[in-house]
Amino acid sequence: MEVKFFTPTREYTEKKDEFNRAIHSVLNSGNFIMGREVTDFEDAIKKYTGAKYAVSVASGTDALVISSDILGFKNGKEVITSPFTFLASTSCIAKGGAKPVFVDIDEDTFNIDANKIEEKISPNTVGILPIHLFSQMSDMDKVTDLASKNNLVVLEDAAEAFGMKWKGKNNDVYRHSGTIGDMGIFSFFPTKTLGGYGDGGMIVTNDAKLAEMAKMFRVHGASKKYHYDYLGYNSRLDTIQAAVLSVKLKYVDEAIEKREKVSTWYKERLDNCDYIKIPSVKGEQRPVYYVFNILAQSRDKLAAYLKQNNIGTSIYYPIPLHLQKCFNYLKYKEGDFPVAEKVSKEILALPIYPEITENEVDFVCSTIKRFYKK
Ligand SMILES: *Cc1c(COP(=O)(O)O)cnc(C)c1O
Repeated sequence: MEVKFFTPTREYTEKKDEFNRAIHSVLNSGNFIMGREVTDFEDAIKKYTGAKYAVSVASGTDALVISSDILGFKNGKEVITSPFTFLASTSCIAKGGAKPVFVDIDEDTFNIDANKIEEKISPNTVGILPIHLFSQMSDMDKVTDLASKNNLVVLEDAAEAFGMKWKGKNNDVYRHSGTIGDMGIFSFFPTKTLGGYGDGGMIVTNDAKLAEMAKMFRVHGASKKYHYDYLGYNSRLDTIQAAVLSVKLKYVDEAIEKREKVSTWYKERLDNCDYIKIPSVKGEQRPVYYVFNILAQSRDKLAAYLKQNNIGTSIYYPIPLHLQKCFNYLKYKEGDFPVAEKVSKEILALPIYPEITENEVDFVCSTIKRFYKK
């Protein structure tokens, strides 16, 4: 048996006619840039997430860069974030000339340890950039508390967090990831819970002024054609991707439920293994299993054994950002963030997607157990 780490073709094969119809309707209309499907998809995202405004762009990375620019992450100002994430969550701070200030992660959730944020706030701090990784959101009660006490802005990297919701202690209702801070972003990279057939991203906010700026920034900073109010970007969601994503959004609740089910298959089979730790969800929130991680003894050997047995796995993230060459200038060193460093050596992501079968999960888990019995 072969179990791929990710496969978009099963879903396409299941719903081929619907995807083909959506794509062909764009081809027939000829409106490839900012066609009607783009605004339709933005409206659908507003409805789904409860955000007042949704501005689509070309990728999650662009959504982060544009939001950072709008929120004033520049001129040596400091932005507090976690080093255990994908590069784009930090490069968006550094690109505009602001300084990323790292805080270690919580060992159970892998998200920023919100108890360690306050000690890093300085007169130069302008913002906090929490990342909602893998299956759950960062502690948004503490993040928003600290932000309002210290007059900081919050940019949520919800690239992986579509469908995740936070209630916490301070609220009566569950709020969708990305809609709690001043601005939030989603990625529609193909592997993501809501993934397109290419790159795509979205900025969400409840602030009219920030939304207006985001709309200008994605078209070179233009308030109307050939009138440039800002130095902006060229970053729009392709109409074809919007059409594909609108089809996917119709089924995203089913997909999320299926992911939840797959996670329980894994938990049932791996819960009592001494050599494996399964992360727990903290805080009142609704998790979404975008990634199913384990912390594994002899991680690299296990990954190699699974590969020999035709099972795909992935490591998010093998090197925390404070130890990456591109951030040498920040002068961090090994040992600065011990939890992130330890987790990066033990973490392993197992295959999870709505179309994976229980048989396949069985095969993955029995192969893992066989490895440790050797
Ligand atoms: C995927 C991802 C991004 C970047 O999104 P792209 O659409 O690939 O540019 C940013 N942050 C995190 C945490 C991600 O997982």
